[in-house]
Amino acid sequence: MTPEDRSRILLSPPVVTRSDIDAVVAAMSSGWLAPVGPDLQAFEEEIAQAVGVSHAVGLSSGTAAIHLGLKYMGVRPGDYVLVPTVTFGATAFAVTYLGAEPVFIDVDESWNMDPALVGGAISSLRASGRRVSAAIPVDLYGTLANYPALIPILAEAEVPLLEDAAEAVGTTCTGGNAGSFGQAGVLSFNGNKLITTSGGGMLVTDDEELARKVRFWATQSREDVPWYEHEEIGYNYRLSNILAALGRSQLRRVAAEVAKRRQIREWYRDRLETREGVLVQSDPRWGGSNAWLSVVRFDPRIHPGTSTRVRSLLDSHKVESRPVWKPLHLQPVFAGATSFLTGSAEQLFRDGLCLPSGTAMAEEDVDRVSNIVLEALQV
Ligand SMILES: *Cc1c(COP(=O)(O)O)cnc(C)c1O
Repeated sequence: MTPEDRSRILLSPPVVTRSDIDAVVAAMSSGWLAPVGPDLQAFEEEIAQAVGVSHAVGLSSGTAAIHLGLKYMGVRPGDYVLVPTVTFGATAFAVTYLGAEPVFIDVDESWNMDPALVGGAISSLRASGRRVSAAIPVDLYGTLANYPALIPILAEAEVPLLEDAAEAVGTTCTGGNAGSFGQAGVLSFNGNKLITTSGGGMLVTDDEELARKVRFWATQSREDVPWYEHEEIGYNYRLSNILAALGRSQLRRVAAEVAKRRQIREWYRDRLETREGVLVQSDPRWGGSNAWLSVVRFDPRIHPGTSTRVRSLLDSHKVESRPVWKPLHLQPVFAGATSFLTGSAEQLFRDGLCLPSGTAMAEEDVDRVSNIVLEALQV
């Protein structure tokens, strides 16, 4: 498969414009090839402004941002960190980099960390004598977790909140934009995310000391003296100036990207929710979504086993779709991890399907995909 194979519809291909290319060329021509430079600083300021926080630190990935955010929060070997079980593995991988153990929490009706399970999980984990040193709610597919419920529970238990908004770049809400809900938030600009630097991420925060320390660790913990002096272990985690130039160019389009993705999701809703037992993910009652991916769910009482059948029919028509994230408590690498489950995540994994949602999609493309989905339902 090649990018110019127009008949194939991909899940979420990156969009690169002439201005993106010009921005990268200009950054290269400026001579700022060393990782830091004026585009990186400007990108950080623009992201902080867009999220509505005072500091942003450009990093090589969202995963690096989770790693250093947790490190600042004091996560140590043997600690527990709460992670929703429906997320990309990176959320939990970063926990293990610090020698801590992810504890998986099932999801609510928004498919995000279920606040009803969090208080009980913390008490029961603490009863074992170990620390619960952070919680990482994820804004799944760009949809905000239930922060109005999660924040007071975590504050009461004195558990720091790191918001994994990797999929939620551009999600805005009157109560706060994605990335602004915790002590720090994590954004990703990986290739398939809403805006991309090919690879890259950002830690956003109102905590000046947190931003300063993460920036320091990410540049090899280099002390401010003429020679390389190290009092702490460092990481090579900074975003490069060239990639930041690409990020700035992409960021100019973010509102238009979100509007288009939300439009695509409504096109799917108009076509697919005509059938009983078919639901396209909606905004939660407490907030918004960038509709990064349009996700459909088939009611198992009406359409048992449908998700798999739809996916293979789409594939035979050269349309890419993907199951919802496989719950992390079912992943071989996390076998035996402590989990607090209701069955919601496993149900969602069986019945959900991510549909093509790339910004370049036209209404005819959504028609083509929807007709295949509806055809599979008739079988
Ligand atoms: C993509 C993603 C990450 C990791 O971001 P990278 O920039 O790819 O390291 C973390 N969490 C979630 C939920 C993601 O979707």
